[in-house]
Amino acid sequence: MIKENLNIVQEKIIKSCEKSGRNTDDVTLVAVSKTKPVSMLMQAYEAGTREFGENKVQEIMDKYDKMPNDVSWHMIGHLQRNKVKYIIDKVKLIHSVDSLRLAQEISKEAVKHNVNMDILLEVNVAEEETKYGFSVDEVSEYAAEIAELPNISVKGLMTIAPYVENPEDNRWVFQKLKKISVDIENKNIDNVCMQELSMGMTGDYEVAVEEGATLVRVGTGIFGERNYNI
Ligand SMILES: *Cc1c(COP(=O)(O)O)cnc(C)c1O
Repeated sequence: MIKENLNIVQEKIIKSCEKSGRNTDDVTLVAVSKTKPVSMLMQAYEAGTREFGENKVQEIMDKYDKMPNDVSWHMIGHLQRNKVKYIIDKVKLIHSVDSLRLAQEISKEAVKHNVNMDILLEVNVAEEETKYGFSVDEVSEYAAEIAELPNISVKGLMTIAPYVENPEDNRWVFQKLKKISVDIENKNIDNVCMQELSMGMTGDYEVAVEEGATLVRVGTGIFGERNYNI
């Protein structure tokens, strides 16, 4: 089941790449495994998945020890500063850096653990009150400031698009994130690179790929509906 789902998602990513003239190698599928048991993650692993996304620190820590060590972990959820220390040496990329203070804490812990942490800046493109992230207007200034911190590398941007019935309704969000990243790239800020665009979830990843996503975060489309009550 999970294997078939992965094949379907991968096929759709390939189609979207063809449609938009992009190279399939430039798009990485992050399997969002939050709330799902290790047995299901292992099914995805056996089907070839190595990139897993989680939104809770505790869940990453639990699963980290139980999964093979060639897995790469992506932190995609809101991260509290006091929990950075638990994942600093476990995750490959933090997608959800949404404040200068969080970036400062990541930098501090990265120095302490003698690692370099790759991060993305989360942008609240659709200006939803319930969502975290930098505003469209301020992200470029913060990128410059964060890039000066030690042991942290700004690799690009991330957004969580609104929930919509028709994925076409989110196309402008993805276009906008792409445009912001090009604008920042053109400023040639030291130590800021804009190679990654993390955008697109189960409902809209095909549109996101057409608009330039390099990382798509798909949960339900691979593992099925989530049950938060267990
Ligand atoms: C849960 C989650 C996803 C995956 O959502 P699906 O709709 O299940 O694909 C992607 N990104 C973030 C930040 C999430 O929290």
